[in-house]
Amino acid sequence: MSTMLLEIVTPERIVYSEQVDMVVVRGVEGELGILPNHIPLVTPLKIAPAKIKQGGREKLVAVNGGFVEVRKDKVVILAESAELPEDIDVERALAAKARAEQRLQAARQEEIDFRRAQLALMRATNRLEVKNHRNA
Ligand code: ATP
Repeated sequence: MSTMLLEIVTPERIVYSEQVDMVVVRGVEGELGILPNHIPLVTPLKIAPAKIKQGGREKLVAVNGGFVEVRKDKVVILAESAELPEDIDVERALAAKARAEQRLQAARQEEIDFRRAQLALMRATNRLEVKNHRNA
């Protein structure tokens, strides 16, 4: 089976760089399964886990928004932040979730704070989902 290079990078660091069989990401227009030799494209991503398939194993990575770029020879996920399951601090994500929920209660829907709290809640939930997934 052919493979492709998958890179997940943030402004801070290279989170992941390996040959994979497939990656499934959540684009703004829906879920996108990418296999080797996929047509080139660039699309924005939602705050959601990316699912990586590699040698019969499956792993989730928390991707917190950004873009995916499919090139001829590789796939690059450029994320605002991204974490591997083993790097996720559950206590921190739970605290961020509780803070965001409090702010959602306090702010009115039309306020910028409300949107910011919604995004913070999505990041925390994303991290908790990735951490709780049975990553092979
Ligand atoms: P917090 O309020 O806890 O900082 P956040 O969602 O605002 O959460 P980000 O701005 O998305 O955090 O990320 C800032 C940096 O902290 C990034 O490097 C990100 O990977 C890291 N990070 C954030 N939350 C966690 C976590 N729960 N476990 C591990 N790394 C985290």
